[in-house]
Amino acid sequence: MFRSWLRSSWATARNTGPAFATTRRFCASDSAADASTSKVASTRVSDFCACWPPGPLERDVRSRISPGGMTTVRVTRIDSEASMAAILLDVDGVLHVSGEAIPGAADAVAELRENGHRLRFVTNTTTRSRAQLANELRSLGFEIEDDELQTAAAAAVEALAGKRVLALTMHAIVGDLEGIELVGEGAEAVLLGGADETPETNLVFSYMNLARAFAELELGADLYCLHRNRWWQTKHGPQFDAGAYVAGLEYAAGVEAIVLGKPSASYFAAACKALDADPHMAWMVGDDLESDVAGAQGIGMKTILVRTGKFRPDAVERARTQPDGIVSSLRQLPQWIEEHL
Ligand SMILES: [Mg+2]
Repeated sequence: MFRSWLRSSWATARNTGPAFATTRRFCASDSAADASTSKVASTRVSDFCACWPPGPLERDVRSRISPGGMTTVRVTRIDSEASMAAILLDVDGVLHVSGEAIPGAADAVAELRENGHRLRFVTNTTTRSRAQLANELRSLGFEIEDDELQTAAAAAVEALAGKRVLALTMHAIVGDLEGIELVGEGAEAVLLGGADETPETNLVFSYMNLARAFAELELGADLYCLHRNRWWQTKHGPQFDAGAYVAGLEYAAGVEAIVLGKPSASYFAAACKALDADPHMAWMVGDDLESDVAGAQGIGMKTILVRTGKFRPDAVERARTQPDGIVSSLRQLPQWIEEHL
């Protein structure tokens, strides 16, 4: 329905003059246990008793018998908890590129799970619904449940539920915007999504639609975007993304967009909250220095950059923010985590 609206809007504008002369309404119908990531020794001192099994994964357990016969056990590292991390994994460029799995990535996800790490998949993908994307990832061999996948569309629902919104987004995610009243005019907010490699992008970000969005901003609507990425990596090379449209509307209307997906602090905070993790003890793994590394560091997370997807060596050398670690691909992450946590 949404796609047909965009087409009919364009046709209406072309044939009858003023665009969007009629109001169209649209609906979206069509503990975990706390796990420290710190390498800092966790020290417990206790009287030895039968309920103090050190556990098979513990290391460096030392005991001392006092002159009075009391045994004190000091555990300087408890692997069964201390080495289990909360890890956020970017999707595009980390798990796959253009629908082709990155070699070893699926096995790495499985190994991270086997090692007890808590995972959440965080994506700025705006061209497929969460269910579609989860299905595609499963078809590529990844173990993933729908509710482990955090999308920018879900963040939009959190921020805009109940509001009248002019949404320039791909049709595929309209179902994920349930709770938002999608309108053609009289909007309280304008929401921009991302581009994809199909002709639908031409329709969503047509001049008429951007001009309609500009008009709504001039009338007082707030500007939101699912992300403002400049480009994304495809198997054919870098592809122009919709961040330029966000910047264009900001420039024209003299406003500043609110980013809902990465690198917004609220997006990362929500992901950490879903894992019941302290951001300072959680890790973000991504291929994007801006959206992934700088964004996650903004709320105090530790970060790992992969040399796949959008990774560019010269960008790392120029960047003011540096990740805590760099690995060749997700395949190397389990070993890196084992060595550094
Ligand atoms: Mg990415």
